Amino acid sequence: MINRRKFIQTLSLMGISTTSAKSRLMAKPAKPNSKDNPIILCSRGEQWGRKVLKPGWDILRKNGELLDAIEKSANVTELDPNDTSVGYGGLPNEDGVVQLDAQIMNGPDHNCGSVACLEGIKTPCSVARLVMERTDHIHLVGKGAQDFARMHGFKVENLLTESTRKIWVEWKENLSDKDDYFPPADGNYNRDRSTGTINVLGVNKNGDVAGITTTSGLAWKIPGRVGDSPIIGAGLYVDNEVGAVGATGRGEEMIRSCGSFLGVEYMRNGMSPQEACEAVCKRIIDINGGPSKVDFNDKIVALSKDGEVGCAAIQGRKGGEPTVATWSKKGFKATKGTYLIEV
Ligand code: ASP
Repeated sequence: MINRRKFIQTLSLMGISTTSAKSRLMAKPAKPNSKDNPIILCSRGEQWGRKVLKPGWDILRKNGELLDAIEKSANVTELDPNDTSVGYGGLPNEDGVVQLDAQIMNGPDHNCGSVACLEGIKTPCSVARLVMERTDHIHLVGKGAQDFARMHGFKVENLLTESTRKIWVEWKENLSDKDDYFPPADGNYNRDRSTGTINVLGVNKNGDVAGITTTSGLAWKIPGRVGDSPIIGAGLYVDNEVGAVGATGRGEEMIRSCGSFLGVEYMRNGMSPQEACEAVCKRIIDINGGPSKVDFNDKIVALSKDGEVGCAAIQGRKGGEPTVATWSKKGFKATKGTYLIEV
């Protein structure tokens, strides 16, 4: 029998440090990026893309910190009350409380951090970054995540805007004709259950890769529900040798397929980012028993370490293709992706 002290002595004789697991992570130098093609990407089209990517690209083009670039870009949607799917102004859970999910992943040391069910903090991806950089943990949830954010100086605020409060009340009043809430006076409720989220992926001049996914999650979710966005390998995955993949849409499907991890592995095995995005969509369709069984959507975006881009969704239509936006030395570009099932 080897006791703990003996075990630790043996490890140190072997030159293995017994300090915290995360502090042992060593920055792995990236394979040089043959194309010297710094690029930042987000899972949005023309309208949001430009606004979101501008601050990130300004950092990246001056060869600034890759993590700062993706964080500043993701913060744009988090802080904007008009985006009802991310951060401040996101649609709440069924109790009218905004609960945010976010993760960040850094290629060079393969480190990551994430928060889930975080209430009252406008910029969850910045808290996720602190979990990654200032703790030996990866996931913090709920009250613990909020306490941690407060410890780092974040202000706790009401994230429900007047507009999202009204949308929530309208939804609640229309839920059932057997409860005691009257339907809204205009009796004209036909709002889809909205989805959103944003992925921001980046590659710097050296070919290092990083990514963020941030969201207020599914509108009207059961309190405490965690989607794919803060789950490593589901709503995001980054590998410095390969690239990054992020997802939006029905989170449960991304979780049970490990979809973003799968996309990165497809790329590692030779697929282009576009092929990888389509293959992840196909895998989810197959898991569900074929196209006729699929009544939800997921959209996958991918970025290779050489700066090649991919974008595909499970469902789409002509004129309603999934879109992806990038900013690189060639300027800003919004591109249409592909879809597998016409709806
Ligand atoms: N993926 C997010 C979630 O399931 C929602 C979305 O992207 O619309 O929480």
